[in-house]
Amino acid sequence: MRLLLLGGTSEARELAALLVEAGVDVTTSLAGRVARPRLPVGKVRIGGFGGVDGLREALTAYDAVVDATHPFARGMSANADAACAGRLPLLRLERPPWEPDRAWHYTDTHEEAADRAAELGARPFLTVGRQELARFVPALGEREVLARVVDEPDLELPEPWRLVTGRGPYTLDGEHGLMREHGAGVLVTKDAGGTYTWPKMEAARLLDVPVVVVRRPDGSAGTTTVHDVREALTWVLARR
Ligand code: NAP
Repeated sequence: MRLLLLGGTSEARELAALLVEAGVDVTTSLAGRVARPRLPVGKVRIGGFGGVDGLREALTAYDAVVDATHPFARGMSANADAACAGRLPLLRLERPPWEPDRAWHYTDTHEEAADRAAELGARPFLTVGRQELARFVPALGEREVLARVVDEPDLELPEPWRLVTGRGPYTLDGEHGLMREHGAGVLVTKDAGGTYTWPKMEAARLLDVPVVVVRRPDGSAGTTTVHDVREALTWVLARR
């Protein structure tokens, strides 16, 4: 059994470790977006495949695929759905969204989140990822924004913006301190789910800071999906 694991998430790293332990020949694929990725155990390949056609070509070296990419990495998931259809078994491993809180403001797009944040509070704290920052400039370019990213963006930031780099898991104390120090008036986040970035939500609640949550894009309808790493392990082992 040669498994291709589409990764870039903590779940993918956990699954890779369990599969290696179980003796499965697993190769994790990373997009190559961050300068110093956290590498999983087992084999790793880095970089895009070249769309659906490139992925189809690459799949000739594998017997099954687990798509454990981030819930907002819809391009990769759509390519996996198309490339595997009728050819290879595909499982989607997707962490559940956060349990909605009545105090959160949900939006469907990042642009809408930017407008909402502008209405809700001064001094926004943006935790939406480097790739999305440009979408917040029109609405928040004049505000004192604190933006947290893993790697510095290519984008030239508006003058009043401040950038901090970091990556989860974060602590409640750290998030509380950072938000207080910035004087954050609103927090903006994707509905990433999981525990790594949860402490900021807790800190916002304690500080009574409103939260704008960008809803997940639609998932892979029709693809077998599990929400738990152990279930994904069981699925793979059943195919050996
Ligand atoms: P995306 O928009 O869905 O994908 C764009 C292209 O990047 C894909 O078509 C593919 O290029 C390449 N790609 C994406 N994931 C890949 C992977 N695991 N292995 C090989 N190529 C990959 O992806 P994204 O939102 O930029 O996310 C990139 C990676 O970062 C993903 O692996 C994801 O799990 C991780 N991540 C994303 C977020 C987020 O908020 N989006 C957060 C945390 C981690 P080709 O078409 O050339 O194959």
